[in-house]
Amino acid sequence: MLNIDMRKIYNFYPVEPAPAPDDLPKAGDLYYECLDCTGIISSVPRIQSACTCGNLTGNGGETVIKDPARVRVVRGKLK
Ligand SMILES: [Zn+2]
Repeated sequence: MLNIDMRKIYNFYPVEPAPAPDDLPKAGDLYYECLDCTGIISSVPRIQSACTCGNLTGNGGETVIKDPARVRVVRGKLK
């Protein structure tokens, strides 16, 4: 799996107010941060993506979240 340290490329800012876990927004500049392992994946992942603990996985523009309560939606801005 391609494993990019997103934090080297982007600064991430939490989306406020925090979206409801059962209605997480998707956008090209929105990312999901796993609160269990701090991994970050795109909300519209174009490549196979996963956080270290496996709570977040994604590919083909779709994400699979095992526990949405353990996710923070963040906006990524290129450094
Ligand atoms: Zn995780």
